[in-house]
Amino acid sequence: MPELPEVETVRRYLDTCLSGGSIARVRLARKDLRFPFPVSFTERLTGARILKVSRRAKYLLIACEKDARKIVWLVHLGMSGKLLWLPNEKGDEQPREQGLGVDHRHVCVDLRECKDGCGVLCYDDARRFGFMDLCNGDAMANDCLRLQKLGIEPLSNLFSGSWLWHSVVCTINNRSRGYGRTIKDILMDQGYVAGLGNIYVTEGLWHARVHPMRVIKDITLDDCERISRGIRKVLRMAIDAGGSSLKDYRKGDGSLGYFQLNLRAYGRTNEACLRKDCDGKINKATIGGRASYFCSNVAR
Ligand SMILES: [Zn+2]
Repeated sequence: MPELPEVETVRRYLDTCLSGGSIARVRLARKDLRFPFPVSFTERLTGARILKVSRRAKYLLIACEKDARKIVWLVHLGMSGKLLWLPNEKGDEQPREQGLGVDHRHVCVDLRECKDGCGVLCYDDARRFGFMDLCNGDAMANDCLRLQKLGIEPLSNLFSGSWLWHSVVCTINNRSRGYGRTIKDILMDQGYVAGLGNIYVTEGLWHARVHPMRVIKDITLDDCERISRGIRKVLRMAIDAGGSSLKDYRKGDGSLGYFQLNLRAYGRTNEACLRKDCDGKINKATIGGRASYFCSNVAR
């Protein structure tokens, strides 16, 4: 499943390729993905100019302008969605047919005046858990309903140990409920921090030396500092790794896959802990169908 670093890598690539381009034609092979396409999807996008590609949590936000109005094209890749940019050969002015409806290719968007000239942006999704939406206005001005309940971005300056301590841990502890939730559960709650999934939370907590099942009332300010550093560290390493995997992505098969992140805990059941001077091994616990991995020497 594409996680935040994968989505961010795709965003960086598409932003350089698509910004400034204009949408000449939108073709759909079906009426829905995970959800139906919004009403008049193709008409609303046709003729729009792409301003930039940004990201919020795991949403790609393609900011467009049409008839002096702003419109945001939201793309969520779900479990297996891929957005592929297939530029034309030099001098080839007509966007080529790109196999719409074949091999899980559900959307083809013809673009002109991009950096590479003309081309087709294709959306492939075997499992169809992805979806697209349109919203009038500006995503960063909070005009999009789907984005309004999302918490802060883990790579933004807002995400810090003191934010985690004051705005999350202390706030929850001052309520009559919620302080028995685990730190892992809280970090995966999109309303607090947006875009974190199981792998990056597991790895971030390993770096932070905090047990994933430690409950909120036992989390200290010092834990919060180490957690924010750990989460940012694994996300940055994954995005760096993503940059190097883009070479294959550009070839057009879209298989960014999982980045070759050096996983320290995730999936390493019973293997030795990789922390220097630690003689622990990685334990696994499954709660609510989700696996947690942690070093046996880290206190719960
Ligand atoms: Zn260890």
